[in-house]
Amino acid sequence: MIATPKIGDLMTNTCPRCNRVVRSRLTLRNVALARTRLVVSDVLVDVCPVCDHMISIAPASVEQLREAGSWK
Ligand SMILES: [Zn+2]
Repeated sequence: MIATPKIGDLMTNTCPRCNRVVRSRLTLRNVALARTRLVVSDVLVDVCPVCDHMISIAPASVEQLREAGSWK
């Protein structure tokens, strides 16, 4: 059974900006969508603690963005 990711969870991830493995933390962000300039608020993402780069978007939130009409 896969645990539901929640705010504050720590994950091990490779940050594409730092190019190293970091302990990222899940947090809520407003995500600006490049193509549409639409901003989706309160998206669950994990963020690099070193450079503040958004590493990935939680799977559950991908659906949220899709509903916002951008990622088809
Ligand atoms: Zn980083």
